[in-house]
Amino acid sequence: MILATMEMHCPVCSNRQFSQISEIFDDRYGEPNLYHLASCISCGHLATTPRLMESDLPGLYGNYYPRKSISAVNVQAEAEKIQRPFAKLLRWWNGTNNQGQYLVRAGETMLDVGCGSGTSLLEAQSLGATAFGIEADPNVAPIASALGLTIHFGSLQDQPFPDQQFDLIVMNQVIEHLPEPGLALQILRNRLKPGGRMVLVFPNQASLWRRFSGDRWINWHIPYHLHHFTSTSFTRMASHCGFAVASTQTITPNLWTLLQLRANRIRPLLGQPSPLWRVAEPATGVLAKSQKKLFRTMIVMIFLTMFGVMNRIVDVFGFGDSLMVELRRSEE
Ligand SMILES: [Zn+2]
Repeated sequence: MILATMEMHCPVCSNRQFSQISEIFDDRYGEPNLYHLASCISCGHLATTPRLMESDLPGLYGNYYPRKSISAVNVQAEAEKIQRPFAKLLRWWNGTNNQGQYLVRAGETMLDVGCGSGTSLLEAQSLGATAFGIEADPNVAPIASALGLTIHFGSLQDQPFPDQQFDLIVMNQVIEHLPEPGLALQILRNRLKPGGRMVLVFPNQASLWRRFSGDRWINWHIPYHLHHFTSTSFTRMASHCGFAVASTQTITPNLWTLLQLRANRIRPLLGQPSPLWRVAEPATGVLAKSQKKLFRTMIVMIFLTMFGVMNRIVDVFGFGDSLMVELRRSEE
């Protein structure tokens, strides 16, 4: 079936014809509508249809996307892990170094677009940088104010911090959520200092786990992910927006692999939230339960170690689950 809609265009090649290839739905939080993956008939880029608009997003996220019970104390504790011995080695082993703020250098000015609760800003500060954030979710505002973080609550298109240019702009797992990813790149291009870098992290639609898991791949994350990039398609989009790719790598968090294997086993029906993604209940004090929990924790640790070995090898060959791409302005 060919879809030809005026409101939908391919961010990679600007073509307006898409072909629906498979039905897919929210298998995490139970948003009840059926969606399709659609493939651009010109370049093969995959997008989620029907296309959601900026105006659809507050209702979608407000109703279905769970907000963890975050507090300033938790955010600070998380950010302080960066100071622990072997922190860098552990991030590499766990596959959690797939975040752009770890690349900031002392003395630089960083902007994190979609900074969430602001952990990345605290981490950048402890690496010696000055950190700014943009976040759509106003629920984070009390945390930002408690921690003294500089976060603009609103959209990139508000052009916040107008007098500020940045050495490093970071988007961690954000670009795939945007209806117009190319527009975001164009806006941010003008905010980089000469020689500045932009680091984006997003799911790799050409990953090994995607091939293995088909429509159960956890990073389809329908309908919240609107665009599904590969290294090739992203590079092409970035070059249309005036960027050259300085480096590309894949990084697979070991935890994602554990979740993927569970998702391959358990799949909810349309409109039903999956137990896999339920926010954990507080543990009870019963001994039998805590022994069971200890046993489960040991099993999980064994699996995570196995995944560590496997994922670090897969990432060397570029078939990992998240892509980390560093861009520079192309005339530089
Ligand atoms: Zn296309």
